[in-house]
Amino acid sequence: MSKHSSDKPTLLTRRQIQLRALTLMVTGAVTVLSVLIPPAVSAQTTVNMERLVVAAMVDPPKSGTGITPGAGAHVESVERALSAKGLLSSRYVDGHFGSSTISAYAQWQRNLGYSGLDANGLPGPTSLRQLGSGRFNVTRVINTGSRWESYGGKRVNTRTKRMLAAADAKVSWSLVLTQGSYTSSNPGSAGTHDGGGVVDISVSGMSATQRWKTVKALRDVGFAAWLRTPAQGFAYHIHAVAVADTDMSRTAQAQVHDYYFGRNGLRGHAGDNTPSSYRSSFTWWEQSRR
Ligand SMILES: [Zn+2]
Repeated sequence: MSKHSSDKPTLLTRRQIQLRALTLMVTGAVTVLSVLIPPAVSAQTTVNMERLVVAAMVDPPKSGTGITPGAGAHVESVERALSAKGLLSSRYVDGHFGSSTISAYAQWQRNLGYSGLDANGLPGPTSLRQLGSGRFNVTRVINTGSRWESYGGKRVNTRTKRMLAAADAKVSWSLVLTQGSYTSSNPGSAGTHDGGGVVDISVSGMSATQRWKTVKALRDVGFAAWLRTPAQGFAYHIHAVAVADTDMSRTAQAQVHDYYFGRNGLRGHAGDNTPSSYRSSFTWWEQSRR
């Protein structure tokens, strides 16, 4: 059996049940009732939280139900657990973390007593472990930490702060933030900076090369980062989105989708303006077929 098929539910399809019942009527070996009781789920599966959360950001804006490479089996395990709790129709148990799965996961979070950003439909470590109880273990756990850290006087979470420090260490100048995260607690609000993981960085005084090197340093540590320009209607700055930050606003999540597909994260979804020499392949999903 392939890795994927081992994750398939053990429930029999209607046709399989009918066929077995028919066989039993012929053979009379065991009672029909015993056939209708599905066998117990055997091995626990493992859910890679990074792959899961990236799929939850990349999949919803897709026009179809495409699966993010490397994430399908992990998403399917979570969808099966949501379905078993009556929160997701079985027809959406397909490995695609679309808007139905986001809604179902948000309901699971509300059932656990969460609200606001904690019930935004992106799996957090606590809700995911609780959902997986007796079903799957969680690996590559994402912890955003405190929402009240600061970096250069701007509000960010612990994970973003560490990522910024790591990017800063890659360049010989200092990263200066002009805007931080958590400008609103409403997960459905329009602003990309309203949730966690999103910052603006000044490029004041930088040469063109320094700007691009800063973009690359940010990308190398896991940000979706773009240089914003006057031609796009902005004063020069870098907008950076910490991929897989579970506090992210809906609009910033859609920018991760754009980044994954080589676009710029703006309304027109134009191509990424970053010169190819300053792009990076830092994660499994960037190296995957898109
Ligand atoms: Zn920004």
